Amino acid sequence: MGNSVLYIEDNPDNMMLVRRALESRGYKLLQALTGIEGVSKAENEEVDLILLDINLPDIDGYEVARRIRTSDKKHALTYVPIIAVTANALKGDAEKALSAGCDVYMSKPINIRELWARVEAFVPSPNSK
Ligand code: MN
Repeated sequence: MGNSVLYIEDNPDNMMLVRRALESRGYKLLQALTGIEGVSKAENEEVDLILLDINLPDIDGYEVARRIRTSDKKHALTYVPIIAVTANALKGDAEKALSAGCDVYMSKPINIRELWARVEAFVPSPNSK
């Protein structure tokens, strides 16, 4: 099993935070700044887990999740873990993310310890082997 995490996020501060946090635990981080780019990287790169922002500049995270789950380019995308990162947990984002095909969700602002725990629940940290 690999350790590549794809983070689909348009906010550079969050991207840098998550990059540092995950690389410090030995993961490889792939970045996508838009929903379309995220779907494309999921289909064309080796990806073991996806972190998915909901508010993106083109298609939203729900649509990204639906496209990944129904992709006909790569069968493994039916099962790849998707963690939604939601800004508006109280407005129903979380439930919508789950029904769009995400496995779990976490709320912004991103808590690093929660991030590590959520990611490690699916993909063990290379540093803990
Ligand atoms: Mn965003």
